[in-house]
Amino acid sequence: MAEQANPFESLQEQIDDASAHLDVADDVRERLKHPERVLELNLSVELDDGSLERFRAFRSEFNGDRGPYKGGIRYHPGVTRDEVKALSGWMVYKCAVVDIPYGGGKGGIVVDPSDYSAAEVERLTRSFAEELRPFIGEDKDIPAPDVNTGQREMNWIKDTYETLENTTEPGVVTGKSLESGGSEGRVEATGRSTMLTAREAFEYLDRDIEGASVAVQGYGNAGHIAAYLIEDLGANVVAVSDSSGAVYAEDGLDAREVKEHKNETGSVTGYDGADEEFSNEDLLTLDVDLLVPAALENAIDGDLARDVRADVIVEAANGPLTPEADDVLTEADVHVFPDILANAGGVTVSYFEWVQNRQRFYWTEERVNEELERHIVSAFDDLTECYESLDLPNFRTAAYVVAIQRVIDAFTDGGTWP
Ligand code: GLU
Repeated sequence: MAEQANPFESLQEQIDDASAHLDVADDVRERLKHPERVLELNLSVELDDGSLERFRAFRSEFNGDRGPYKGGIRYHPGVTRDEVKALSGWMVYKCAVVDIPYGGGKGGIVVDPSDYSAAEVERLTRSFAEELRPFIGEDKDIPAPDVNTGQREMNWIKDTYETLENTTEPGVVTGKSLESGGSEGRVEATGRSTMLTAREAFEYLDRDIEGASVAVQGYGNAGHIAAYLIEDLGANVVAVSDSSGAVYAEDGLDAREVKEHKNETGSVTGYDGADEEFSNEDLLTLDVDLLVPAALENAIDGDLARDVRADVIVEAANGPLTPEADDVLTEADVHVFPDILANAGGVTVSYFEWVQNRQRFYWTEERVNEELERHIVSAFDDLTECYESLDLPNFRTAAYVVAIQRVIDAFTDGGTWP
């Protein structure tokens, strides 16, 4: 297998590619390609048996020109410093493309949380929150869920922060449970923006989403919700996968039923409505109308891209295509709608949560979903307008052109401190 692309280098390449279409000076471009600050920690956490374990953790604050740093915290054994740096940069351009007033950040702990008890994960999370305390705050840096973290971890971070600061500041973190100050619609938001992007993309390309065949790689929070919302549009979800493998049914699976099966058994495989089971790689090369990568970075590299037979790709994961895969797919006329738009629903509803926290006034789910749709559709229109007017090679470049220009404008308006 080819060497894995370094996600931080992929991000830098994406910025260079888009900058070529913008009037941006080299010194400013250099600024756009590097994080402002990266915190690296070794957390010592007591396990249930009384022993101590060291965990590496990171928080990268990439750029704050448009507002406080914003982005999730992931718990995964594959977390690296460069991965967190890349993810924090993607957050900058994601927030800019949907035009919400944030910069970008990201955090991660090198851990497989399924190897630890809930009490151990709580101590680890509170220890991270304690170390992050001087850097986070509703006007500074606002964490959120990401891979293997959710409401539970966000509630602990909020509680730790508020206890240590002796204050009430629910907007210090988003993605909380409703009882802890979360927003209606936040859990569904990432998958919802993937569905909205797919819907707009098919309309833009003059294709019918109704009856379209769809494959979804990854069946976590983003993947399974995207699958059932796209199914609700009348599309036919023929294959889904998780780390255990893929399930396939020619006439379509029932996306909600597959999720129930995964909740009961821990994996999508073994679902009895499937005709066939195969590998993740087989799923990525299925001949479908729409492919939704919804797992981790680098799912499709240059080699695999040569075998991709989908017509449209909508990225629910962050960074699922390497730059080489992008080149191959552009050449093959596969339309790729990028992560920084298609999964931006999560951070957009995080923004709504933060607004509600600050106003102490809470919205209905209907209002959240309406505002989300407005943001995603308007971002989609900005992106396609830019794609056409500059005659750009693909939609990712268009998204970065729109986003980078917004970051540069904010930076230029503020000027530099001597
Ligand atoms: N982790 C999500 C993302 O990658 C959400 C971030 C947030 O809500 O701040 O976009």
